[in-house]
Amino acid sequence: MPRLALLAAVTTLACAPAVRTAPSPATGTHTLVAIFAHPDDETIVSPALAYYARNGARVYVVVATDGRKGVSAHAHIPAGDSLAKVRAEEARCSARQLGAQPPVLLGFEDAGLAVLSPWPGEPLDRLATRITATLSELHPDVVLTWGAEGGYGHQDHRLVGDVVTQIFQSGAAPAGARLFYVGFPPERTATAPRWYGMKVYPTASAYLTTHIAYEQTDRDAARRALGCHRSQATEAEMNESFSALEHLWAGEVPFQQWRGGPTASKFF
Ligand SMILES: [Zn+2]
Repeated sequence: MPRLALLAAVTTLACAPAVRTAPSPATGTHTLVAIFAHPDDETIVSPALAYYARNGARVYVVVATDGRKGVSAHAHIPAGDSLAKVRAEEARCSARQLGAQPPVLLGFEDAGLAVLSPWPGEPLDRLATRITATLSELHPDVVLTWGAEGGYGHQDHRLVGDVVTQIFQSGAAPAGARLFYVGFPPERTATAPRWYGMKVYPTASAYLTTHIAYEQTDRDAARRALGCHRSQATEAEMNESFSALEHLWAGEVPFQQWRGGPTASKFF
């Protein structure tokens, strides 16, 4: 997520809940693809990515935009090509820490997905073409993305989730692939410290039917991956951000399956 001036407003931290013992997935030949808007958005599901990578799944992170507008004062990197280059390397660093494959960086302009000309949705059509081609190449069993609320509401988050959903809705996703949105129940969003200074919107618990528990080693990989995104936050700010995320996760990352799905404790 782009750096926000409100970052300093991250509030008092709650104690992180104990990490649960996760069931072993039957992976090995499965592929998990997480599609998000910005370099560092993968943080929202990072323990689940680390968990599946550690258990043998092929895990990919697809990043729609180049993050060139995510300026943070502490980093002294101006918006533009130089910041986009730094953020691409940070995305690669994060993927390594999570045990994922090298990230797929689509390079769309940060905060540039919503336009009215040459026609409404023009960049989104190009993005849909690129994501469809990527999915055809990777043959995922499971695709993860932002839900309708976009976490804390960022328009790039909402639009990327929308485009991925449109691909599934149109029948253009690979056969057998299942789509999930990350989301958090109201009791956690109501009590969580603000994340990057922002409120995370809730998803009704009844829709969050898949819960991916993770282990301490996955939690630690997730924290190291967050630490890769040094252009976005100071170490102290990262600690605050991660504490907010641990409150939201509460030892497991919840997901809503597109068009509903059975209660499950693993993707595969
Ligand atoms: Zn973002």
